[in-house]
Amino acid sequence: MDNKNLTPEYICTHYGEENIEDKYYNAVIPPIAATSLHVFKDVETFIDAFGESEEVQFRYGRASNPTVALLEKKLAALEKAGGALCFGSGMAAITSAIMYCVKPGDHVICVRNAYGVTHTFLNNRLKKWGVETDYVQGNDPSDFEASLKPNTTLFYLESPTSLHMELQDLRAISAIAKANGIKTIIDNSWATPIYQQPITFGIDIVVHTMSKYIGGHSDIIGGLLCSDKETITEISNNYRQIDGGILSPFEGWLCIRALRTLPVRLKQSGENAMEIAKYLDKHPKVKKVNYPGLPSYPQAELAKRQLSGYSGLLSFEPHAPVEQCIKFGNDLKLFQKGVSWGGFESLFAMGMYKENGEYANRHTADRAVLRLYCGLENTRDLLNDVEQAMKAFE
Ligand SMILES: *Cc1c(COP(=O)(O)O)cnc(C)c1O
Repeated sequence: MDNKNLTPEYICTHYGEENIEDKYYNAVIPPIAATSLHVFKDVETFIDAFGESEEVQFRYGRASNPTVALLEKKLAALEKAGGALCFGSGMAAITSAIMYCVKPGDHVICVRNAYGVTHTFLNNRLKKWGVETDYVQGNDPSDFEASLKPNTTLFYLESPTSLHMELQDLRAISAIAKANGIKTIIDNSWATPIYQQPITFGIDIVVHTMSKYIGGHSDIIGGLLCSDKETITEISNNYRQIDGGILSPFEGWLCIRALRTLPVRLKQSGENAMEIAKYLDKHPKVKKVNYPGLPSYPQAELAKRQLSGYSGLLSFEPHAPVEQCIKFGNDLKLFQKGVSWGGFESLFAMGMYKENGEYANRHTADRAVLRLYCGLENTRDLLNDVEQAMKAFE
């Protein structure tokens, strides 16, 4: 099979596992390489392994591991990237990617509704090391141009974002970045590499939490970073190996297992989300539905140009006070209350704001954005659950 035209389904099920000789006792499933080190047949090979030798891949488990490397091979192929690195959490991948792109005195432009902990890292940790960040809405590529400074070295994107589902025009923004010698990172967790390959639009580094769709069963914490070969080698040698953030072999094995069903899981989750988004879109008590797959979504046209499918995360704003929003969440039976998403189970979460857009708590909030993650349950069961809970707004 031609490497460039591998289907995502092929990559998820078989890619990297074609050589029966590599398999342990010809098992259909690859083993978990639970080892901290690899030994050598003689001292000469041992010494050479720590020299320039390209052939020796595995020496010590903080640098690389055969199970994790198989997962990375699959994920790099899915993202159409030169290479991939797996980390012990999404945040470990995100902070390594950002640290690689900046130095003291630099300036970062980040999208306003990116993942909250990423903001905390930029606002607290990086600020301490002399890196300033400005935030932009990001829906219009000119937002980035308007905030450019002579010392801007990084655009940090997340498209779609995971509460408001806002998109950025990845082709246009990477063109602006390239013209100004600026690096680009995108958090691609909402779309997964099945529905969006940002590197093909000119983005430099793609990061993911694998704790969501890629892990897919709400039983692991993991992260992923994809880029060109040179960047991957540099981040592997001078960041992951030094910070000690590699994914463990067992979690790597669980992700290989989960990848086999990623396309079918996304399909079911996305179909569920589309049905619920359509239902909410027609509901008189609903002011706004945030789901890029809805034809009425303000960024639907851009979504079509960048995404080949729509996953299971949506949000909406009802015409209702915050107390009724809380009642809606409580009345849901199948949607459990919790952070995260991307697993088998449907989840409810809410963001609360003051009229001026600032974050608020349940006592100070003027309005709420209600998030529904649609899992792998039956579509009718989920719709019934949402329909009965909508009575909270009557
Ligand atoms: C959960 C999440 C992260 C952080 O990933 P962890 O695996 O929890 O460290 C980053 N980005 C997005 C969009 C997320 O939802």
